[in-house]
Amino acid sequence: MTMATHEVTNQPVPLVGHNVYAGDRALRDALAFHLPGADESGRTSLGALLGSEAMQTHARLANVHRPQLHTHDRFGHRVDTVEFHPSYHALIGSAIEAGLHATPWARGPGAHVERAAAFLMFTQLEPSVLCPVSMTYAVTPALRDNAPVFAAWFDKLASTRYDPRLAFVGTKTGVTMGMGMTEKQGGSDVRANTTRAEFTGDDAWGACYRLTGHKWFFSAPMCDAFLVLAQTPAGLGCFFLPRVLPDGRMNAIEIQRLKDKLGNQANASSEVEFNGALAWRVGEEGRGIAQILEMGTLTRLDCALGTAGLMRGAVALALNHASQRQAFGKALSDQPLMKNVLADLALESEAATALAMRLARAVDKQDDPFETLMRRVLTPVAKFWVCKRGSALAQEAMECLGGNGYVEEHGEGVMARIYREMPLNSIWEGAGNIMALDLMRALRKRDGRGGDTVQALEAELATTRGASTVLDRFTDALFARLADGAGDEHDARRLAQDVALAVQASLLRRHAPDFTFDAFCRSRLTDGGPQVFGTLPSGLAFDSIIHRAMPQ
Ligand SMILES: Cc1cc2nc3c(=O)[nH]c(=O)nc-3n(C[C@H](O)[C@H](O)[C@H](O)COP(=O)(O)OP(=O)(O)OC[C@H]3O[C@@H](n4cnc5c(N)ncnc54)[C@H](O)[C@@H]3O)c2cc1C
Repeated sequence: MTMATHEVTNQPVPLVGHNVYAGDRALRDALAFHLPGADESGRTSLGALLGSEAMQTHARLANVHRPQLHTHDRFGHRVDTVEFHPSYHALIGSAIEAGLHATPWARGPGAHVERAAAFLMFTQLEPSVLCPVSMTYAVTPALRDNAPVFAAWFDKLASTRYDPRLAFVGTKTGVTMGMGMTEKQGGSDVRANTTRAEFTGDDAWGACYRLTGHKWFFSAPMCDAFLVLAQTPAGLGCFFLPRVLPDGRMNAIEIQRLKDKLGNQANASSEVEFNGALAWRVGEEGRGIAQILEMGTLTRLDCALGTAGLMRGAVALALNHASQRQAFGKALSDQPLMKNVLADLALESEAATALAMRLARAVDKQDDPFETLMRRVLTPVAKFWVCKRGSALAQEAMECLGGNGYVEEHGEGVMARIYREMPLNSIWEGAGNIMALDLMRALRKRDGRGGDTVQALEAELATTRGASTVLDRFTDALFARLADGAGDEHDARRLAQDVALAVQASLLRRHAPDFTFDAFCRSRLTDGGPQVFGTLPSGLAFDSIIHRAMPQ
């Protein structure tokens, strides 16, 4: 029996079964620039998988059925395990099979750029399972500073065979790692850490210590091991902390509770206490902050990539909706003011992809001194600017869907998930102010021995000198400011914004169409910078920009 009072019309067909890679011209053009002639078949098949209905269902289920903490078994023993829905395992298993964690460290040139593209694409499906994947990527190179641990763990860290069991590394097909820095009294200022490390002796994994203290944020506690900071007599040290000890016993890591978070629901973020947990030193006592900074460079890359992916996902959803939904006699995407909004969102998304992929190339070219300087400059710039723009873009993309954008409907509201995820990439791994201040420090380091970050930035931008008078004026003003030093701390965000915009414009000149470059320069490099979305000056190629960004 039908109870219908009306026919449902004018509701768009959802974006399902599309190819996340093939439909992303901005990403494809960035890759053609950074890896010319590279085989696209792997990316194309990953793109099909990530857009599939089956994977979208996993993403929904992994967020609806949140991780459950079990501190004890029914007999009262501590177990400290987190139980995930099978869809979580399916998702993270796919990410690891695609080599998004430590695999590039075992491969040759270009591997980090390939991995960056895949990471950006995967985020559009589900970002929160990528937290342990990203941390594993970031900690692996730092582990080299403990050679025996690196020798025992590297093959399993680089393995593409996911193994969720909490078991000794020797019995597993693959492992993941996390990071523990933040304590209650300080996250940005980790010098305030109070967790103590007491030396107990040397063994096959090097200098062993007993850790006592806590971590206030400790994501993905089901990882096999963590790099954590703790105080030694010589200052902060960095320590390798496995969950299962070499003799098969569980290490003394007690999970107190899981965080109740705004978004990032599929990922477990915990509070932990170390009750005399055994850990092995990585690097020297007192060098913990330097070790953490090495990891931070890589997780910050992933914050930019992840946000660029979420932005692309949000724009694809907005375009899918607006091109099907009719209002006032035509498709929303044909209404002049909506064209302005959609084109503006598309520009921002492409610029984010360009900047994040440029940073990935700098990470890939580890041995090139120029790229090392660019990595130093672009890491805080991309982390700051792309993540800041992400939240604003998600709000506007959501509005393109009208009321439907705000509705969760049993986890099917992908736009709502994106919106809740966005602020996180800006907060963790160094919040916005910390990034802006870090850039200021980087630009002040002019040691005259080739380590000159400002000269590197000038060389990067010189490649597109003369392409646009607007861009030339903008970069001239930027370098005039830098000639007097990088300014004072009050101006640090403005500096990060302006460096980001100049580099984004230059990249768009190199691998986007003229109409994209022109629209970006005229809307971002004049009149005080970016405005509310949908305020592009008239006369720009709205239709071409929108057409380029259409997901299928
Ligand atoms: C979901 C989630 C998961 C997390 N997972 C982990 C994890 O696995 N491991 C881990 O170690 N941490 C983790 N974190 C912690 C995260 O990295 C910190 O929250 C972050 O570094 C900020 O530290 P804080 O919270 O102590 O804030 P604070 O350090 O108190 O900073 C608060 C604000 O002050 C600003 N600020 C700080 N210093 C200055 C200054 N000198 N000038 C101007 N502004 C300043 C910051 O930019 C920030 O906006 C996680 C956080 C979240 C939300």
